[in-house]
Amino acid sequence: MDLMDKILSLSKRRGFIFPGSEIYGGLANSWDYGPLGAELKKNIKDEWWKRFVRQRPDVVGIDAALIMNPKVWEASGHVAGFSDPLVECKKCHERFRADHVDGTKCPSCGGELMAPKQFNLMFKTNIGPTEEQGSEVYLRPETAQAMFVDFKNVLDTTRKRLPFGIAQMGKAFRNEITPGNFIFRTREFEQMEIEYFVKESEWEKHFEAWLEEMRSWLKHLGVKKWHEQEIPDGERAHYSKRTVDIEYDYPFGRKELYGLAYRGNFDLTQHEKFSGQDLKYTDPENPKEKFLPHVIEPTWGVDRSLLVAMLEAYAEEEVKSSKLKVESENGEEEEDTRVVMRFPKWLAPVKVAILPLSKKEELAKIAKPLHAELAKEFACEYDETQSIGKRYRRQDEIGTPYCVTVDFETANDQSVTVRDRDTMKQERIAISSLKQYLIDKLA
Ligand code: ATP
Repeated sequence: MDLMDKILSLSKRRGFIFPGSEIYGGLANSWDYGPLGAELKKNIKDEWWKRFVRQRPDVVGIDAALIMNPKVWEASGHVAGFSDPLVECKKCHERFRADHVDGTKCPSCGGELMAPKQFNLMFKTNIGPTEEQGSEVYLRPETAQAMFVDFKNVLDTTRKRLPFGIAQMGKAFRNEITPGNFIFRTREFEQMEIEYFVKESEWEKHFEAWLEEMRSWLKHLGVKKWHEQEIPDGERAHYSKRTVDIEYDYPFGRKELYGLAYRGNFDLTQHEKFSGQDLKYTDPENPKEKFLPHVIEPTWGVDRSLLVAMLEAYAEEEVKSSKLKVESENGEEEEDTRVVMRFPKWLAPVKVAILPLSKKEELAKIAKPLHAELAKEFACEYDETQSIGKRYRRQDEIGTPYCVTVDFETANDQSVTVRDRDTMKQERIAISSLKQYLIDKLA
């Protein structure tokens, strides 16, 4: 089984990600995040917001409407140009992105391909009860445009001065011709984006600084290796003087993970033109100087972040059985391999599992209040069925950093056993100092 199949099967088996609408036979490449996936995704988004919005005095966040005035997408160029060339097979009628196929033969059946057609990727819908002309709107294909549209409002209400950024995270929709590779390319996905406004003369310095920020985020997420692909002249958007794609070696090939682009003042210029509003910035030190700021745009995909984090975290290990052998009621032997998701601790969907050695009332009466107390602080799980070895294995498989076992000694010595996911070492800790112990370990 290749790594991708292992991640897919783990996702389904343990509740990270399910096929969307599965009981109805699914819906082409849609995926639902299950209980663990939802926690994982939330951790990524919360960490990003903390790091790039809350902890930075020069960045503010917004949360704009998903459906915007359709003029936004005329101004941004999406109505006229946000399309992929599509080719269709004359024989089996399967469709492909023209830039994804080699030559003129269908990759599925070998049939002849039709000439490429342009296909707009924006989803259309209607506002109001009738489908009249003029009621047509689009689901946003990116989160970025709202930061330009709200630029003036943010400037007026926050008194931010250059350089400063506006950030947003949320869903984006693209009617992709060939979605696939699990959550890598879907028609509905989430983005985290920043538009960082600067003086034109300073764009290079800020571009470098954001590239460094992206590298540091990648390491924080647990990514060991990536590629920084400079997009050459002629392949960049016409307004961009520099674009770097952050690419990753997925099991299905080297492809984009994130992007960083210098967009000049293209977007604000367009919105000024289409809205008729003055969007210029006045330099407080030089009030006569009015201009449209230039923009550095770092962009992160949430779903691709999650996929890469899972690929990086997955490990299968040979384990000496003695390491796994613990006092279990039936004393059963353990197998000698384990699957462990070595998520960075901040990312783990469950931080602490509380595992009473058996279902007996004398253990539950200590373990349940302990769970209630710890759950105020961390994402916790309570599990009292199966042998303790099997339960450790389950927690390793979802990447839980700490397991707390309540055993028959606990009532006597007021202590529990804490097991570390990575070292599998166990430590006896007094209940009175457990919470602080875990806070320090998980910090
Ligand atoms: P690609 O070349 O893979 O289609 P793109 O260059 O069109 O991507 P951008 O428009 O730069 O992507 O979008 C920013 C980020 O949003 C990407 O780096 C990626 O992480 C994410 N993203 C884009 N399209 C999708 C999709 N269909 N499914 C999941 N994530 C996506």
